[in-house]
Amino acid sequence: MTVIAGNLSAAEVDAAMYAVHRWEPDNRNHLFKRDQDGAGVGAVWPKCTRGKPIPQRTCFPDELSPELGDDRDHSQDCRSCFPTGSRQPWRP
Ligand SMILES: [Zn+2]
Repeated sequence: MTVIAGNLSAAEVDAAMYAVHRWEPDNRNHLFKRDQDGAGVGAVWPKCTRGKPIPQRTCFPDELSPELGDDRDHSQDCRSCFPTGSRQPWRP
């Protein structure tokens, strides 16, 4: 695990590094790394697929919905990006 600052919890680091977007291919809320630029390939993919084989359907940055806040529809949260019962990182 990368240590960014001594006083930040893992959840706070996640909140700073990731933004929530609705991913059109499956219409669920996923975490996308804020500075992700597709590594030069012009496509982005959610946190839950990082480190795994690239999914058949990725998306382009301008296909992402506007960043969603904590008032989003939590029932649409991806269970891999949002561990069960953990809504803490997105509290303002
Ligand atoms: Zn996800």
